[in-house]
Amino acid sequence: MPFKYTAKQNFPDYKCLSHKCMVGRHLTPEMYEKLFDKRTPNGVTLDKCIQPSVDNAGRIIGLVAGDPESYEVFKDLFDAVINEKHGGFGPTDKHPAPDLDASKLVGGAFDPKYVKSCRIRTGRSLKGFCLPPSISRAERREVERILVEAMNGLSGDLSGKYYPLKSMTPDEEKQLIADHFLFQKPTGHLMVNSGAVRDWPDARGIWHNLEKTFLIWINEEDQCRVISMQHGSDLKATFERFSRGLNQIADLMKKNSQEFAWSERLGYICTCPSNLGTGLRCSVHIQLHKVSKHPKFEDLIVGLHLQKRGTGGEHTDAVDDVYDVSNRARLKKSEREFVQLVIDGVNKLIEMEKRLEAGQDIADLLPANCK
Ligand code: ADP
Ligand code: MG
Repeated sequence: MPFKYTAKQNFPDYKCLSHKCMVGRHLTPEMYEKLFDKRTPNGVTLDKCIQPSVDNAGRIIGLVAGDPESYEVFKDLFDAVINEKHGGFGPTDKHPAPDLDASKLVGGAFDPKYVKSCRIRTGRSLKGFCLPPSISRAERREVERILVEAMNGLSGDLSGKYYPLKSMTPDEEKQLIADHFLFQKPTGHLMVNSGAVRDWPDARGIWHNLEKTFLIWINEEDQCRVISMQHGSDLKATFERFSRGLNQIADLMKKNSQEFAWSERLGYICTCPSNLGTGLRCSVHIQLHKVSKHPKFEDLIVGLHLQKRGTGGEHTDAVDDVYDVSNRARLKKSEREFVQLVIDGVNKLIEMEKRLEAGQDIADLLPANCK
């Protein structure tokens, strides 16, 4: 049905909220006019995708994809946002081909005095299905069914079981969250304002192997998040299991004629444009008593192309100087290259920590861009 009002009448009022958000800066009235009455094959509109930007004036992206096709149908806006968010990625730029080959990594087994645990995650979506902001209950349940069926085919050290959120006791759920295995009901602007938390906890759950070293979150921010994690300091082994599990899941899905949504240009499709490309966040929990108190700590993390979070993940604080240190970017490098970047950066951080422990200076170790 054609929209009754004009684009001008329906344009979001970004000015009155003194917006800092990316969409507010990139969405012009002309662009809105061109796109506002278009629909993807699944019926997703531009208004659906920009809703987080309308409900939050903060320093956020403010854009989500309602389905994989949103990236194409609304590309004028998505491309502009992707270009800014990923530090330059023009309409003709292409994300490299996937590379999950752990054998090519150099190093990756750290000193356990500093590195306490390792975790690698990525997001994946099923081709042909809406993404969480626009998905219906029936479709979400179908996504759950397809994924669980594939995962139940995993074998050996990867074989495990699915635990739907609905049949968990509050204590079981709390324990899994406290142990860093499970997501909690999202309260952040991206999930709430995009509508991705509707119907909670319907069709949400966690699948994991016996040892809880290979875990899959179902229907949180992405249709699926695949996670490999382990105690200790062996990041290479964490990546090896991550790659093996991911490849096996893709093979198992193929048997049922299902595949992950993937774009030649943008890589793997995720709900938030910030996760496009690899969707990969490779993190270590690292204890840095000394480096964390250095005046250049923030700068040197950024200078090493890393990101830090607290011990409990995003929006938490470090406990006993244990930081979650991970790759900052997701696009423009392969999975293996991002893991290598984390290995090299973490080696640097450990070297700095040892120097400071010995009462020595680290000026010569600081990345060039933060001296
Ligand atoms: P993501 O968005 O990558 O899933 P979050 O910051 O939301 O990451 O954190 C999710 C959970 O994973 C949190 O409980 C966090 O403490 C845990 N986590 C992240 N990295 C590690 C790690 N290297 N070792 C142990 N737990 C981790
Ligand atoms: Mg998260």
